[in-house]
Amino acid sequence: MSQPRADVAILGGGPGGYEAALVAAQLGARVTVVEADGLGGACVLTDCVPSKTLIATSETMGILAGSASLGIRIEGQDGRGRPRPGGPGGPVTVDAVRLNDRVKALAVAQSADVAARLAAEGVEVIAGRGGLVGSHAVVVDGREISAGVVLLATGGVPRQLPGAEPDGEGSGVTGAEFASAYQALGSRVTLISSRDRVLPNEDQDAAMVVEDVFRRRGMTVLSRSRAAGVKREGRGVAVTLADGRTVRGSHGLLTVGVVPATRDLGLDQAGVKLDDRGFVTVDKVSRTSAAGVYAAGDCTGIMMLASVAAMQGRIAMWHALGEAVQPLRLSHVAATIFTEPEIATVGVSQAAVDSGQVEASTVKLPLATNARAKMQGFRDGFVKLFARPRTGTVIGGVVVAPRASELILAVSLAVEQMLTVDQMAHTFAVYPSLSGSLTEAARRLMRPVGDGA
Ligand SMILES: Cc1cc2nc3c(=O)[nH]c(=O)nc-3n(C[C@H](O)[C@H](O)[C@H](O)COP(=O)(O)OP(=O)(O)OC[C@H]3O[C@@H](n4cnc5c(N)ncnc54)[C@H](O)[C@@H]3O)c2cc1C
Repeated sequence: MSQPRADVAILGGGPGGYEAALVAAQLGARVTVVEADGLGGACVLTDCVPSKTLIATSETMGILAGSASLGIRIEGQDGRGRPRPGGPGGPVTVDAVRLNDRVKALAVAQSADVAARLAAEGVEVIAGRGGLVGSHAVVVDGREISAGVVLLATGGVPRQLPGAEPDGEGSGVTGAEFASAYQALGSRVTLISSRDRVLPNEDQDAAMVVEDVFRRRGMTVLSRSRAAGVKREGRGVAVTLADGRTVRGSHGLLTVGVVPATRDLGLDQAGVKLDDRGFVTVDKVSRTSAAGVYAAGDCTGIMMLASVAAMQGRIAMWHALGEAVQPLRLSHVAATIFTEPEIATVGVSQAAVDSGQVEASTVKLPLATNARAKMQGFRDGFVKLFARPRTGTVIGGVVVAPRASELILAVSLAVEQMLTVDQMAHTFAVYPSLSGSLTEAARRLMRPVGDGA
């Protein structure tokens, strides 16, 4: 049997860890992954997969709620909660137990898929909580594994607030996603936001569309309302606002961020530096301050997305194993907020353009004028493109639409490959389709022939 190219030990089996393991194994390394809770990490077991599975149901509820305008009459429902034409009548409701079972089953199945994939690639997985022994070995349950390359991918844990006092930073991405989902599932939702509008750090036009939809669907959005405390009250919770008002509900959901899981890992002794918030300091090829030790994902605090964690992990392995590698480019990260409608973004932001930091030509097309959107009954949303004024190179975009997370790929590809609006405009889009609005936006940004500006 040929010698392995290198020995790689990975702490953490979330997207940062398992995607790195797959790359390292593909490149001929002997790979060990140490995972404390389950393969797939928090991403698969508690965060992305469960939340988006819940949202799949809330999305369907949203479609059913709007189905009358498409000519559908729901006379009743069958015993499984599905509409049954000709049934006894009644609203479509969510079977919370079945939904919860589905969410949990899907997470477990996805974790099993990751385990099967790693096993197929010959990656050894050790269940347990590990730590570093110097910079070239990890230890788990007393077993020491030597490695030329170590990757830290231990993720983060939800920030706990003493006494559950909220800090007034509400209405971030996770809060907006859950507010949108629970509203569609039939809950009465109050979204407490300390700022003027929801999603204050996102594209303003996009946030306004979503806030408008929230309010229209009956959500109570309390803007400029700083929450001062949360306490249990009988079978519910009471949130006290700084101005003295109280908001009561059956449940309170705190979405106040993530802290890195970097304590008690032996990082200090290994020479791995942390920043003042406890995140591992890394460069653009995922190197830490200790030679041979790399880090990826939420434990680095770079951009807390599964796709970024996975890319950091892959980059770490390509670099460590001597392959050609492109440094991480955060300006090219495509991201989505899974509200209804979704908000997807890539590249430069409207705020950067407005502040003069980036020079760009901009076009924004409302979805309401798109033929397919009309057929589907979508009226909220838009597509927006940013291009360099002189060259027409596409440098960013925003899509607010159902499944914007899928539509953004075309803009992401254009940004990554530095395509021009002319190239995008000459690309066929299906008629009728929402993606047709992207090529139409590109057409609107094309410069007239002979314009030498
Ligand atoms: C509610 C919610 C929804 C989200 N939805 C999305 C989304 O839709 N899209 C998206 O891109 N991102 C989403 N995110 C963010 C995403 O979940 C994280 O960015 C991603 O999980 C980071 O991956 P990771 O590999 O760094 O860490 P994790 O997925 O957290 O995995 C780290 C793993 O390491 C293990 N571990 C920790 N310490 C040790 C140790 N000492 N030894 C062994 N194992 C250890 C942990 O048990 C864990 O399993 C969401 C986050 C939240 C909270």
